[in-house]
Amino acid sequence: MHLLLFDIDGTLVRVNRAGRRAVQTALEDLVGTDLSTDGVSFSGKTDPQILSEVLAANGIEASDALVSDALEVYAEAAAPVLSSSTVTALPGTQPLLTALADRDDVQLALLTGNIEAMAYRKLEAVSMAQYFSFGAFGSDHADRNRLPEVALRRARRDTGRAFAASETVIIGDTIHDIECGQTAGARCVGVCSGSDDRAALSRAGADLLFEDLRDRDAFCRAVLHDRPSQRPHGSG
Ligand SMILES: [Mg+2]
Repeated sequence: MHLLLFDIDGTLVRVNRAGRRAVQTALEDLVGTDLSTDGVSFSGKTDPQILSEVLAANGIEASDALVSDALEVYAEAAAPVLSSSTVTALPGTQPLLTALADRDDVQLALLTGNIEAMAYRKLEAVSMAQYFSFGAFGSDHADRNRLPEVALRRARRDTGRAFAASETVIIGDTIHDIECGQTAGARCVGVCSGSDDRAALSRAGADLLFEDLRDRDAFCRAVLHDRPSQRPHGSG
């Protein structure tokens, strides 16, 4: 049995600049002054971490209370801008998830820096929310490396099965996903469809690397140890 924990941004979907603008607008509303998000990388980070870093980059001390307020304002500001016109499914993701959801040796779940409401909002915009009944989110912890334990706890609660680290696979587009997987003792799959390139993901220690998620059979062979297909050419 395999527990597959998917990252969202850069792995399953791409969100245009609207997401970044929503962070800026929310924080400006909250602190009542103009802010800049320039120079703050969002990729692979949890939402609370992103909000703290933007505040700090603008010389504002990010107390826990301020970050918690900021998350609420951000959720309100971001929800209306996340739609099918701003969120795009990355190549191959929809058919891959459909195939994985059909298998009885796979449990799908999320491991993402998005707060839970934003995670499902993004997935709903591309009709992927139904594949993920649970996950671990930026709303659970600001430190991504603490999220695998949350995901494993929820997996046990929701499926009644205790997954071992060796059965767990973390799939993401940044070195932070790889580091998080390594911390948890999980297998780490890097996908080069987001922020970090193949060399960076490889250096970070990814066990497997894919350019994108288009080749379903290659993914299942490498990640789930499927045997090469015996079907003759041309049979689909
Ligand atoms: Mg990502």
